[in-house]
Amino acid sequence: MKDVKPVNVMDCPICGGKNTLKVFSNQLDIPYFGKVMETTLICEKCKYRKSDIIPLEVKEPKRYTLKVSSEEDLNKRVVRSATGHVRIPELGFEVRPGPASEGYISNVEGVLNRLEDAVRMLIRWGDEEERRKGEEVLKRIEDVKRGKEDITLIIEDPMGHSAIIGDGVKEEKLSEEEVKKLSEGNILIMEKDKNKS
Ligand SMILES: [Zn+2]
Repeated sequence: MKDVKPVNVMDCPICGGKNTLKVFSNQLDIPYFGKVMETTLICEKCKYRKSDIIPLEVKEPKRYTLKVSSEEDLNKRVVRSATGHVRIPELGFEVRPGPASEGYISNVEGVLNRLEDAVRMLIRWGDEEERRKGEEVLKRIEDVKRGKEDITLIIEDPMGHSAIIGDGVKEEKLSEEEVKKLSEGNILIMEKDKNKS
């Protein structure tokens, strides 16, 4: 964490610690996307951590598609809000928003690094089949990073809070039907959160 003071201190909803949950927020200006608020919650006691990225401007629901085939593509910027769906069809990989969803600002390589971490967890805890598939995906991610295999990165956000930024990125407005489909899971999750508090 940078040298910033928390803007708020709260009780932790996870471990119940009194005033142990610190809220940090930071305003950033992302070229070709706009101003965003980056918020991070960190509990000093149980190390619970959650981040999100929320644009300060009204956005349209959108899908961003990028064919990743060069080193330059790996450096393209990615804004992923907690409401963003991330998919790489070639690797059979999809991240849907959920209670553990994190928002982040990174680049395409950073998204692949996060995927590698998730796959390593799967290999550690999974059964034989999952381990085998996991090892294969790790090998393919390595190939993508070396420019030996192309993939398509797709980010869809029913709130429009997420984006891939750079040349060659296809940007499409989502239809009402698509927004409804993408939002269905979110509504459920929000209902669950409401019951918890
Ligand atoms: Zn805690």
